Amino acid sequence: MPFTLHGLPVSQGIAIGHAHLVSHALLEVNQYVIAPRHVEAEITRLDEAVAQVHAELRTLRATPTSAQSEVAAFVDLHTMLLDDPMLTVAARSLIRERRCNAEWALVQQMEQIVEQFEAIDDPYLRERKADVVQVVERLLKVLLGHPGSVSPRRKEDLGTIVVAHDLSPADTIHFKDNRQVAGFVTDVGGATSHTAIVARSLGIPAVVGLRHVRHTVRDDDIIIIDGARGIIIVDPDERVLDEYRLRKSELELERSKLKRLRSNRSATFDGELISLQANIELPRDLPQVRDVEAEGIGLFRTEFLFMNRDELPDEDEQFEAYRTVAKAMTGKPVTIRTLDIGADKALKSGGPRMETNPALGLRAIRYCLAEPQMFQTQLRALLRASQYGKIRILLPMISHAHEVDAALHAIALAKASLRADKVKFDDSVPVGGMIEIPAAALSLGMFVKRLQFLSIGTNDLIQYTLAIDRTDEAVAHLYDPLHPAILRLIHQTIQVGARNEIPVSVCGEMAGDARFTRLLLGMGLHQFSMHPSQILEVKQEVLRADYADLSAKVARLIKLDEPERLREAVERL
Ligand code: PEP
Ligand code: MG
Repeated sequence: MPFTLHGLPVSQGIAIGHAHLVSHALLEVNQYVIAPRHVEAEITRLDEAVAQVHAELRTLRATPTSAQSEVAAFVDLHTMLLDDPMLTVAARSLIRERRCNAEWALVQQMEQIVEQFEAIDDPYLRERKADVVQVVERLLKVLLGHPGSVSPRRKEDLGTIVVAHDLSPADTIHFKDNRQVAGFVTDVGGATSHTAIVARSLGIPAVVGLRHVRHTVRDDDIIIIDGARGIIIVDPDERVLDEYRLRKSELELERSKLKRLRSNRSATFDGELISLQANIELPRDLPQVRDVEAEGIGLFRTEFLFMNRDELPDEDEQFEAYRTVAKAMTGKPVTIRTLDIGADKALKSGGPRMETNPALGLRAIRYCLAEPQMFQTQLRALLRASQYGKIRILLPMISHAHEVDAALHAIALAKASLRADKVKFDDSVPVGGMIEIPAAALSLGMFVKRLQFLSIGTNDLIQYTLAIDRTDEAVAHLYDPLHPAILRLIHQTIQVGARNEIPVSVCGEMAGDARFTRLLLGMGLHQFSMHPSQILEVKQEVLRADYADLSAKVARLIKLDEPERLREAVERL
């Protein structure tokens, strides 16, 4: 039976594919101690689950598919793992001796085995830990009353829709390597969480905050993601599938038409030049940047170089990454933000502590200043790369003058150490700051004196001004870029920048949302930075805009404080 679920639209477009349920939620099983009299029954429960998974695997092996030998190979491997005493015999002992429930016993044992696999040198064998996890998942599904689906119901032409309780930005960045992933849907998450941001940068449709999708959808179910409306349709009938196939190809056609704007000069109808730059997470995003002929990199979120790994990247590795980007951009500005780790962007190891309010904790510039050695490594790498292009250093989450002073001091130290090592760098690398904390937007005087450019991070500015966690779907409806307070903070920052001849850009998600292009132009914004996939749509708005007319209209609009009137005025712009 088809059914529809509603969530938050985070990345536009339509995807049609087969569900692939990912493990995190499933592996977070209940853990409890059972009464001694229930021990034998619990062991029987486990044994029955093992027998059922054996039967599932046998059925799977006997079902004809186009990839018979691959299926046989993994079924044999999974059967072998299922028979391995390390897994089930040890799990039985945990039930008997420690009186753990069956699910808990399995997960504990799985963790032990995975740890052993991780220590193996051979990369092929090391990767087999994923098979251990999959076998345990199959067992858990049976135990939790969700027998695994075994029929290969997949249609050849469809991609994969990842279905998860939650995905971290670190998980999502993996999809850059896996072009099979056509889209993803999650139970939790907010529209400007970094997971959503990465989805947009990949150009794959995504809907988050669906609440119960992980438990409602089964592996291999066909799912349609309607990214613009924030809905998913599970198990659609042929008529609905055809309708969405048509809409998908229409959207693709519209996107390809936009490509014609690639080489157009980015200026408003009345001739005001507007710079449209790109946000990137990794050097491998460069082809997309080139495709749309972005005028520079307005934000390189360097923290993505630091994620999904045990050891932090050393100076040479970072230098290579920054140099690659600087060289590829051939003299166009490349704004590299120093590490903005913390909150939803966690390091695998050695990162900030577990905190009650991580978004208010030791993140971004606070973390860098607390880890001077790590900061020096990054600054030296950045400065070394400045020889190869037009690098600008951007400090995230500044709130006070002393943080900027300390960061500038750190940059001076990095320069001195490079000089001592006789390493060349560009001594005049501009240093700027992110305006994303209301306190910074309200006290720009101290920043314009110390910095050479400003960049408004609307994602955090909205989060902190409205006290709304950007990753929490429960308050997502309150996340309002058009709140009068937000508009005033942005407007004021752009105006103060102009008065002080300090360039101001917007690099938060508002800059890439074509619904806000005219509003930002009317506020006097001349530099926008967004995902490459959004640049041409925004350019289309810029080309149609009359800058002088918008300035006059926005000067009036900004005085409104009745939200509905404001919203209408923005729509009428
Ligand atoms: C922002 O906060 O708007 C921003 C651009 O930084 P990030 O999204 O990486 O926090
Ligand atoms: Mg931010």
